[in-house]
This record gives sequence, structure tokens and C-alpha cells, in this order.
Amino acid sequence: MTGPANADPFEEDTAGPLATDVFVVGAGPVGLLLAGELRAAGARVTVLERLTEPTTESRASTLHARTMELLAARGLLERLGPPPPGGPGHFGGIPLDLTAADPDHPYAGQWKCPQSTLERVLGEWSRELGARLLRGHRVVGLAQRAGHVEVEVVRSDGTRVRGRAAYLVGCDGERSAVRGLAGFALAGQDAGREMLRADVAGIDIPNRRFERHPGGMATAARWPDGTTRVMVHLHGQRPDPRSRPPGFDEVVAAWATVTGEDISHGTPVWLNAFDDTSRQVTRYRRGRVLLAGDAAHLQMPVGGQALNLGLQDAADLGVKLAGRVLGRAGEDVLDSYHDSRHPVGARTLTNIRAQSFLLLGGPEVEPLRSTFGGLIGNGSVRRHLARMISGLDVPAPTVATATAGPAAAPAPDQPHLTPERNIVGRLDNKTALVTGSSRGIGRAIAVGLAAEGALVAVHYATNTEAAEETVALIEKDGGRAFPVRAELGVPGDVHQLFHGLEQGLKERTGEASLDILVNNAGATTPAGLVPEDVTLEEFERLFAINARAPFFITQRALGIIPTGGRIINISSGLTRLANPEQAPYAMTKGAIEQLSLHLARHLAPRGITVNSVAPGITDNGGPVFDIPEAVEQMAQLSAFKRVGKAEDVADVVTFLATDEARWITGAFIDATGGTLLG
Ligand SMILES: Cc1cc2nc3c(=O)[nH]c(=O)nc-3n(C[C@H](O)[C@H](O)[C@H](O)COP(=O)(O)OP(=O)(O)OC[C@H]3O[C@@H](n4cnc5c(N)ncnc54)[C@H](O)[C@@H]3O)c2cc1C
Repeated sequence: MTGPANADPFEEDTAGPLATDVFVVGAGPVGLLLAGELRAAGARVTVLERLTEPTTESRASTLHARTMELLAARGLLERLGPPPPGGPGHFGGIPLDLTAADPDHPYAGQWKCPQSTLERVLGEWSRELGARLLRGHRVVGLAQRAGHVEVEVVRSDGTRVRGRAAYLVGCDGERSAVRGLAGFALAGQDAGREMLRADVAGIDIPNRRFERHPGGMATAARWPDGTTRVMVHLHGQRPDPRSRPPGFDEVVAAWATVTGEDISHGTPVWLNAFDDTSRQVTRYRRGRVLLAGDAAHLQMPVGGQALNLGLQDAADLGVKLAGRVLGRAGEDVLDSYHDSRHPVGARTLTNIRAQSFLLLGGPEVEPLRSTFGGLIGNGSVRRHLARMISGLDVPAPTVATATAGPAAAPAPDQPHLTPERNIVGRLDNKTALVTGSSRGIGRAIAVGLAAEGALVAVHYATNTEAAEETVALIEKDGGRAFPVRAELGVPGDVHQLFHGLEQGLKERTGEASLDILVNNAGATTPAGLVPEDVTLEEFERLFAINARAPFFITQRALGIIPTGGRIINISSGLTRLANPEQAPYAMTKGAIEQLSLHLARHLAPRGITVNSVAPGITDNGGPVFDIPEAVEQMAQLSAFKRVGKAEDVADVVTFLATDEARWITGAFIDATGGTLLG
């Protein structure tokens, strides 16, 4: 076990609070949110915090739109007593209206909330949900064993205890002990610049925001209680590798150098220094140990991004880790946490470095500031930056639960990772692949899923123009889609399909995760082909496209379908109605129904449903549907005496893709308009 070399006997805790599903180390905002998330989803969690009391230190105070949204979805905004608006934002000291991210967003802009208030509310919430918080418990060692993690803890009374959990998450801040103990590698840049900060009582100086002077930069803001927060940076001053806050004399001297004002008669209430260190662990997960918040990334706390980034890490990780702990998801779900949050962290650190340069740079950055200031005047630049800072440029994490309240232990047969939607569409933040969606029923399905908020990959074999029409149809209504080409039923088909699919998803969402797979593409037999005339080539072609391809597409998709995923196979009413001319075709559709049946059983432990939808005669735009007499004749087959529309089938598929259909799996859904009633 890593940790102190002495051989102190440890008290073993194998049944009490130190035996749990997940240890969260650190009761900062990130650890507390994560603890609540894990409990809400049904996992047992113990938070180990070295401090005996919450810190009252003044820290972050800004909440961004994505964080507000996630607090609201958990019923926490009411408890915070909704935060007041935080005024306009900035990028490196250049004014930036954050509402530009999405003026219609309910929490557009930025909001004010002291970190201590947020921590109090998160602490109460997570404990109500059943999280155990052990204060005065400092983690000093950990070891990964087969199937669990062991921790060594020193309590505030000096006693030592050892505990075990299936997983451990280090939310223990910028000086993370877990990071070192578990051997995470940090990459990035050392500090080049430093800011001094102080809350000072008894001074009367003008408020100013990012005021640039030849000697440095100065900011001053009077709090309602009469103290003034000053922040000052001296050009050319290297950061002091200090282990304690700066002296007030340092702040006074720097303030005088930059502004010419004397604040030495004031009384310092709080002193602090921070620099522009920019470091991030190379992986967010090492085996059974994960990192979130400042433990995973160190950055200058400019514009509130440090706190918001960490909270969004916790929201992403919570539902995934709970899924893994409760056996609803595979190990890969934990890597998907790294895959989704590491790039966001890297991007945020980059923008913070850019801001540090613009904010704290000397006269040499003036041309850049001036050019940048002009660029921010451009609506799309403003929107781009505002979306990045607000966290709206990445999908919202899934909500494990929408309201606070004690979390019951999950029933063994009940998927408890049911995602609840927290915005408008029933499929917001979901991704979908619809094979054969350039036309007909497939197109209607793609349009239907996109209308509910899903990002849809529109697969097609040859007709690029038709696929682009489907994408255009979706985009016209504000949806998101992209085309993916792959001819099915030929060697390499699945590889080609997933190459385009994963690339398209990564470009748009930052990760290759597929929530909904609709196996719709299919070939048909020429009309009038009696069984006696079916050739081996024709038979094999039909099976390759209609049965083999869906099987291997599904097999490949299983690696990227998360908990709560959906697989929908488009079958046919012909599996229940004899039509000798369609015998081989109906056989392929029978095969795909078998796929649904057997995979439904296999995938239920992952919370993935698999169903078959069987259309009857449906107007797919083919030439026969232009002949009124033929249409009339076909209409008589349906109990409703009309030919089906592609949307009739698409609506059924869309329903199966939503959370409302979570209890349906392995089903054959008759979408023939009553044709099978006879
Ligand atoms: C003085 C100061 C001012 C700041 N100002 C701003 C700001 O203006 N804007 C902004 O966005 N951000 C600011 N930040 C950063 C912001 O506070 C952090 O990003 C945020 O607190 C990160 O949350 P966290 O939960 O990841 O870590 P923390 O809040 O650091 O919480 C980590 C917790 O882990 C505990 N811990 C550490 N080691 C152990 C151990 N071995 N065992 C058990 N527990 C342990 C700690 O006691 C602590 O409670 C500031 C930070 C500081 C320190």
C-alpha cells in the first residue's frame, strides 16, 4: 500500500462506513455533488474529508448556465434561493456578454453564489439522499486490489483506520493526495504570472474592473458589507512559489506601484494569491480510482471556470459510476467519463491560458487585445466564446434524479439509471444511427428522432443527394444530423459505417457514444418472384443486407451504446402474413426479430432495450404509390382502410427510443395499421 512507511496498526472497518461502494475523497463542491449523484442513482457512498469543519474561506462565486441547469434539474436552485445575476462576463478582461451563448436559455448569463453557500446546500442534499460524510478523515494511503480499493485514513484524533470500496474518486482539490497516491501523471505548464488578492476593510477607493496601467493590472470592488476586494498583478513579476498567503505589505506595495493609491491604512480580512499554473492529469481514470474537479485539472480561477468545470465533471461521472457499481454498465462507461470530460478540461485550460495572457500581459499584448476586442464584436465569435465558458458547447450530463429526497435501494430487477429529460425534447443529448434513412420510413424515423432532440447519423448506401435532403430537412427544423455512407452486405461494410459514424459523433459531441440504433436498411425481392425462381445469389444478397449486416452493426454498436440505450429493428408484417412472392425477404425479417428477442435478454442488465417494429404496407415514395387504383387496393388490407404513412411507423420507433418505453424489451410491435387482424 502506498502511504507512510511506518507500521502503525490500523483499525479495520469492513462492515461500517469504511466499507462502501464508492469513497469520495474531499467534501468540496465537486465531491459533495458527486456524492449526491451517486446516492440518487442508488450507489452507497462515503465522503472522506480531512477538515473537521467546512471552510469559510472566500472562494469562487460564479455559476454558469450549464451549472445552473444541472442544479435546477436536481431541485437545488430553490434551496440556494435563486442566485442573483452576476452581470456581464469577460474574456481576459475584455467584456463578453455571456447571454450570447443562447439568449433563450433559461439561465443565460452568469449568476452569483458564494462557494460556501453552494457547499452547504450540496452537503445537506447529499446527506439527505443518504451519503455518509466523515469529517476529520484524511486519506494518507491507498492501494488497488483485485475487485476493490483500500484506503488508509488518519482521523483528526490521530487514530488510523483502513477501509475498502469498489471505487474511489479523488475530489481532493488542487493539491490532491489521491492523485499522487494512485500515480496519476500531470501534464501542462508551470505558472508564469501571479495575482494578489485581498479583502480589505477601512479603505475608500474607486471600483474598477480589469484596469490596465503601465505597471500592471488592478481590479477593485466594494462588497455590500463595506470591505473592498482588490486584485493586483505586477507586470514582469514571477510567481512566488509560496506555501502561505501573501503578506498585506506585499499587496499594499503592489497596489501602490500599479495604481499610485495607498491602502496601507486598511485592515486585511482575507489574503490570497493565485497564479496561472495550467496542468491536467493525462487520464481521469486509473483502474478503480478516478479524479474530478481541481484534483484532475489545475487552472487559474478566472471567470469562475474552475468551479463550474469541476461541478460538470461530477455531474458527468455520477450517473456513469453508479451504473458501473450497480452492474448496469461495463468498465468502458468509466473510460467514457475520461473521453467526455478530458477534452472539455483541456479546452477550458487553453481558454484560461489565453485569458491569462490577455488579462495579465503587459503592453506587448495591446495589439492582440485590440484585435480580439474587435473580433468579440462579431456575433458568431461572441457566441462561440460564450458557449464555451457557459459549458453549453457540450451536451448536458444525464440527470440521475430530478429531485432531492432519500434514495431507496434499487430493486434488483429495476434499471435505476433511467435518464430524466431536463430540457425540451424527449431525446435531447441523445445520439442515433438510422440505417437506410435517406428515404422512406428510414427518413421519417431520422426526422422523428431529431425532432425530439437527438443528433442523428443518416446512413445511406449510394444516394448521397437523398441523404443530404434528409439532413437538410432535419436542420431546417433546428435539428442536428449528418450523413454516413456505407454499402451494407459487402465485405468491410460495418467498418466503413462505424468509421464515418464515430468520426461524425466525435466532431459534434466530443465522444463516440451512440444511444439509439435503428436497424432499418433492407433490400426487397423483385415483385412476382415465386420461390421456384429464387437464385442463390438473390437469397444471399437479401440475407447479407437484411440479417447479417444488422447483426454485426449491432455487435459493433454494443461497444459504444451506454446504459439506457435503445436498439430498434425494423421487421415486417410479412413475418405474420403469408405472401409466397416474399418468402426469402420474410425469412430475413424473421431473422431480425430473433435478434431482438435474444439480445433483449442479453442486454437487459445494461438497461438497453431491443425491440422489433413491423410496418405493413407503407407509402415509402415508391412508384406504385402514385397509382390510385393500386393504393386503393392496398388500403383495403389495413383495418383503417388506408395505406400507412412513413410517419405512422416513425412515431412508434421514436416512442420506443424514449425513456417512456423503458419497460418494453424483446417485443414485436405491430405497426401495420391492423393489417394482421385479418
Ligand atoms: C483561495 C481560493 C480562491 C478561489 N477563487 C476562485 C474564484 O474566484 N473563481 C473560481 O472559479 N474558482 C476559485 N477558486 C477555485 C475553486 O474554489 C475550486 O475550483 C473549487 O473549490 C474546486 O472544487 P473541488 O471540490 O474540486 O476542490 P476543493 O474545493 O479544493 O475541495 C477539496 C476538498 O478535499 C479535501 N482534501 C484534500 N486532501 C484531502 C485528503 N488527503 N483527505 C481527505 N480530504 C482531503 C479538502 O479539505 C477540501 O475540502 C479558488 C480557490 C481558492 C483556494
